[in-house]
Amino acid sequence: MINLYITLKVETYAPELAPYAYGVVMFGIVFYFFRVFESWYASYFNRPLFRHYFVYKKVSASKETILKNQFDFYNKLSEKHKKQFNHRVAQFISEKKFIGRDNLIITERIEVLIAAIACMLSFGRRNYTYTLIDVILIYPSKFYSTTNNNYHKGEFNPRQRALVLSWEDFEEGFQISNDNLNVGIHEFMHAMQLETKGGDDLDSARFVKQFQNIMKTVANPEVRRQLDETKFFRAYAFRNQYEFMAVLAEYFFESPEDFKDAFPKLYDYTKKLLNFNFAGY
Ligand SMILES: [Zn+2]
Repeated sequence: MINLYITLKVETYAPELAPYAYGVVMFGIVFYFFRVFESWYASYFNRPLFRHYFVYKKVSASKETILKNQFDFYNKLSEKHKKQFNHRVAQFISEKKFIGRDNLIITERIEVLIAAIACMLSFGRRNYTYTLIDVILIYPSKFYSTTNNNYHKGEFNPRQRALVLSWEDFEEGFQISNDNLNVGIHEFMHAMQLETKGGDDLDSARFVKQFQNIMKTVANPEVRRQLDETKFFRAYAFRNQYEFMAVLAEYFFESPEDFKDAFPKLYDYTKKLLNFNFAGY
């Protein structure tokens, strides 16, 4: 009855709309099959069919100079990837609110370097802007946190949708690039991992799959013994699964060669989890 009524209505009042209606339906069908294919591709090859749509944003010249002169990773990228990275940094800065605490003035350098670390970690992803973060709070140095009544270098606070950083420690983390300590990477990894809870996008699915591979590998008695004996990863990693992933990411970026030699399987799963095929990683 209802169908008939609609058909009559279309014919009576708007026959000229029929071709458009077919168009919309066809588009819906094509789109549906594309999504099915895309999902199949991502789970079969462990990477998305594509990871970037359009490049139309660009940071200012002065910000680009900061990227070029102070962020090594940027210089290692191909021209195409440089443009994507530049776009992503610009987008990240425009989406997030940067707030200085204890009289810290937010400079272009602070914005660019924090955005660059965030976008480096998420560079293999399509969804790269950390949907659980709205605000980046920056203290000049270690700050007192009421979560455990202690001084922190960094903290991700999902309830306040805030990533909190000590600028002094953030800078040290990325300037000393081979000590496997990088508080920026560490905290952004916490945010990325929490995003997979309830996330139904391809990046979250890939994260969950590779995370399970990592957990299975770590549970293997032989690998466990090797982890205990070599003490390759710092003890903090073994507090819980979140800390393990955050520390793994720090090692991945700061000493990829050593990581690969010591634990090739874990390295491979981390690389797939991040879909990271850039700059020699
Ligand atoms: Zn942590």
